[in-house]
Amino acid sequence: KFITFEGIDGAGKSTHIAALTERLRARGADVLNTREPGGTPLAEQLRELFLHKPMDGLTEALLVFAGRRDHRMTVIEPALAAGRTVLCDRFADATFAYQGHGRGMDLAVLTQLEQWVLAGRQPDLTLWFDLPAETAAQRRASARTPDRLEQLDLDFFERVRAGYAARCAQFPERFARIEAQGDIAQVWSRVEAVLEQRGW
Ligand code: C5P
Repeated sequence: KFITFEGIDGAGKSTHIAALTERLRARGADVLNTREPGGTPLAEQLRELFLHKPMDGLTEALLVFAGRRDHRMTVIEPALAAGRTVLCDRFADATFAYQGHGRGMDLAVLTQLEQWVLAGRQPDLTLWFDLPAETAAQRRASARTPDRLEQLDLDFFERVRAGYAARCAQFPERFARIEAQGDIAQVWSRVEAVLEQRGW
């Protein structure tokens, strides 16, 4: 199985990836944890460039997809072929949400890159942790008055959030929206409910 985790920064993905890893291992699954941008030595180097060098949206998308190609071929496909369960923190949906809806890249171009790089490989399940940008910013920064840039960030993250909503509507079979407001135990029980529905 291939399970991906999506959501804006501060949505709480990491906590639930750790919990889901435990749950699946307890049921005998051979779990591989990985992440994007990154997931291989080459893709982690591209991640460093992506995070720290100024660049335009298309360059971002090309770097992320280059890393994704390496990650898919050298890590994801071999693990799935060996019957492992792959949990990936962000995947292609993040590119549509961040570079597409967030930074205004043409979605048709991203779709072409996706077809080229993924060749039909899609997650079996995408857990989208959804919460308002403002709540996420509060979680990230703890309580203080946001400055001008943090306000801009709110608009950016609301666009990213809308991008995830669009992907969720487009791929309803594999997408599960998890209401990410509330405490960790509440959110986790929603994750468990999705897995139980699928008999996982
Ligand atoms: O999820 P993670 O914290 O590893 O992401 C690193 C940073 O890269 C985050 O700030 C995230 O918002 C950003 N990102 C992005 N475009 C992507 C994936 C992540 O801008 N496609």
